[in-house]
Amino acid sequence: MAKLTIIKYGDSVLRKKTRNLLLEEINTNNSIIRTLAYNMIDTMQCAEGVGIAAPQVGISLSLCIIKTPQDLSQTLVMINPKITFKNNNKTCCQEGCLSLPGIYEDVNRFSEVICEYINLDCKHCIIEARGLLSRIIQHEVDHLNAKLFIDYLSQCKKLQINKIFKTRKQNGLL
Ligand SMILES: [Zn+2]
Repeated sequence: MAKLTIIKYGDSVLRKKTRNLLLEEINTNNSIIRTLAYNMIDTMQCAEGVGIAAPQVGISLSLCIIKTPQDLSQTLVMINPKITFKNNNKTCCQEGCLSLPGIYEDVNRFSEVICEYINLDCKHCIIEARGLLSRIIQHEVDHLNAKLFIDYLSQCKKLQINKIFKTRKQNGLL
């Protein structure tokens, strides 16, 4: 498997809403999609992340990888994931993102969600998630909808982060 380049904050692909994959496409191009998913798993693991979405490797398709915190050896490949239920309870926790290295901020997320998706075998799956898993799913599904965790922060915080990345870019550190 190959390690892919992780796209950093500032690249327009992270702000583009992804396209859903058709079942027919998943069937016909199964080995290509499988290779992409496995390469994304490799990339995520090398970067010590707990999730990664296709736009973060420059591909604007609705596909993401989720590491399940209960069983770290288990990794979910989600195609066209959709959150179909959110509970009324939000919890706050520090979050980071492979596309924004070194930035960690508190974000409010629903403590429980139900997510429906297609797996690599073209099967329709439903997952009920709580706690950290619920948070990871919401973060990755956001990526597929062109949203980043810093969008939940105050304007002031966001400006500070923009400044950090502008300086990194100027110094060739991205
Ligand atoms: Zn992220």
